[in-house]
Amino acid sequence: MVELHDVHKRFGPLHVLRGVSLSVRQGEVAVILGPSGSGKSTLLRTINHLEKVESGTVEIEGELVGYRRAGGQLHELHELEILRQRTKIGFVFQSFNLFPHLTVRQNVAEAPLSAQRRRRAEVDALVTRLLDRVGLADKADAYPRTLSGGQQQRVAIARALALEPKVVLFDEPTSALDPELVGEVLEVMKDLARTGTTMLVVTHEIGFAREVADTVVFMDAGRILEQGPPSQVLDSPRHERTRAFIGKVL
Ligand code: ATP
Ligand code: MG
Repeated sequence: MVELHDVHKRFGPLHVLRGVSLSVRQGEVAVILGPSGSGKSTLLRTINHLEKVESGTVEIEGELVGYRRAGGQLHELHELEILRQRTKIGFVFQSFNLFPHLTVRQNVAEAPLSAQRRRRAEVDALVTRLLDRVGLADKADAYPRTLSGGQQQRVAIARALALEPKVVLFDEPTSALDPELVGEVLEVMKDLARTGTTMLVVTHEIGFAREVADTVVFMDAGRILEQGPPSQVLDSPRHERTRAFIGKVL
């Protein structure tokens, strides 16, 4: 479903991704752990071409992201093509990034109406279903500023699902929340995982990783240092650096 092959990325002299290869199958949840600066956010951002890779490839459902092959070479896609590809990829950020001047319902409806030009009645039904799913059916007409952080993040998740993406990327979705609001967001994410959503999740929530992840990826200095089922990576890591990191976040 999501395939990264030998991805490299530099910011000037900084070599941030140093040959990352990763394969996530349909319906799988991959949790990505690693110290600050190890390249986790950059990795997620290459998947929807918010960051261009320097070399290597990203594919979703066998389709190259950001490029097309012609005459043995890769050519970057036009902006509209890239936007079309992004509709297949939901993204949930640490800072919820809702439109402050739109209601909850309007926030969730925005992309299917404008990017996909779907019919209003159809979108209304979809939004109602999604808000119900994240437990916010009663907040449809509220504005983001009147909601708690946990509620805002659940709206952001509903919005990410509104284009019915093939995969949803989460970058530290609970890190900006007060501790008592973390659980409600994780519950929504667990529900998505249970119902077969393909997800890549950067998080330090080890309990979530243990319960939900099919695979745990530990990144260090731009590389995947180790990867495996949660029981292996979390309980008997092969590398001292993984062990030290998990010891710190637990
Ligand atoms: P954190 O846990 O703090 O979120 P991270 O693992 O997500 O860290 P990245 O945000 O991917 O790390 O950053 C990896 C490295 O790349 C860092 O050294 C960061 O400063 C650098 N970096 C990220 N984005 C840019 C950018 N747009 N321009 C220059 N350097 C960048
Ligand atoms: Mg980050």
